[in-house]
Amino acid sequence: MPQPSASSPPDASRPAILGGSAVRPEGPPGWPLRDDAILDALKSAWDSGDWGRYHGSQLSHLSEQLKRLLSVEHTILCASGTAAVELALRGLKVGPGDEVILSAYDFKGNFQNILTLGAVPVLVDVGERDWQIQVADLAAAITPRTKAILVSHLHGGMVAMPAVMEFAREHGLLVIEDACQMPGAIIGGQQAGTWGDIGVWSFGGSKLLTAGRGGLLFTNRDDAAQRVHLYTQRGNEAYPMSELQAAVLRPQLETLEQRNAIRTANANRLRELLLPIAGLHPFSESLTDSRPGYYKLGLQFGTASWQGLTRDQFAQAMRAEGIALDSGFRSLHRIHSARRFKTASSLREADRADEQALTLHHPILLTETVTDLEQIVAAIKKIQAHAAEIVRLKAN
Ligand SMILES: *Cc1c(COP(=O)(O)O)cnc(C)c1O
Repeated sequence: MPQPSASSPPDASRPAILGGSAVRPEGPPGWPLRDDAILDALKSAWDSGDWGRYHGSQLSHLSEQLKRLLSVEHTILCASGTAAVELALRGLKVGPGDEVILSAYDFKGNFQNILTLGAVPVLVDVGERDWQIQVADLAAAITPRTKAILVSHLHGGMVAMPAVMEFAREHGLLVIEDACQMPGAIIGGQQAGTWGDIGVWSFGGSKLLTAGRGGLLFTNRDDAAQRVHLYTQRGNEAYPMSELQAAVLRPQLETLEQRNAIRTANANRLRELLLPIAGLHPFSESLTDSRPGYYKLGLQFGTASWQGLTRDQFAQAMRAEGIALDSGFRSLHRIHSARRFKTASSLREADRADEQALTLHHPILLTETVTDLEQIVAAIKKIQAHAAEIVRLKAN
């Protein structure tokens, strides 16, 4: 393939993957941001000595801050979002033989946590416009063994929680609401995660609020909180968050609301810019009185308009342009043995999500200039115009 030589500078009209110049030679914006407030928090944990203590003031302050923000009775800070989901299942007494309904398109750790408890994942399909779990698919999955529903808000899409809760109450089912991808989002007028019996956040290294590692579960149920405490307190804390992690999270909570607003505005602007582009559709389903969060912005890759270029090839070409675009999750039924789970209906849309989901990583959504968003569109157009050529390159 043509490579840029010393005599001819790379051609800006050609995709970087074909030897042209990238729209963002500097690559995507980094994460985490270098906030002065984080440095101040680290210094203050140093000054107080909290950085090296089991029990300082950081964890308790963070807990209080979270209780106020979420309007909940109990917050339990722990080692990761994955641990928080496991503890949530334990808190609701999910055990051997119980069935837990979840979307076939979901975070892999959620599926594995259900297995860890000896329970059986029951996979349901997702809605066609935004690939979120939907109430219409739940009824067919219920059996006398169904104990709980685990729902995740994914890639900027929102699960219709008011309807899910109504359904769950009607059928006597418990709900775990995984809001790891959208802390601070509002659904039907209240904080995402607070609809379910237990809500969960992650503070992993790529997440909107990060301490490198860490998680949170929150609930108004005294019995569930008590059960989680009994499970994690073994004379020592078995799933701990450290004082130092709590220290760096506190200032991030202060800016969460403002940053969510910026990300949402930019996501909406980007959706508009993408409207004229065939073969690429941002997740689109809105709920009343709601504002999503954007750990990722989900997109559906259409099969037409790409001259045989695959979703994975497209994502790779975008990354070569300096845009943090990746293929989405693998759907759970396609990466696990059928002996491990049950299904109640067709997983047609989850199949499509497995093959066609794309996710744009969030840091670019904090940009203050529309140029950053226009670059994304420019990269897409460039790749689309040279799609056939990229397919030929890949075939050789
Ligand atoms: C990141 C994530 C988790 C797990 O969080 P970790 O802190 O990385 O363990 C769980 N569910 C969803 C939907 C996530 O995106």
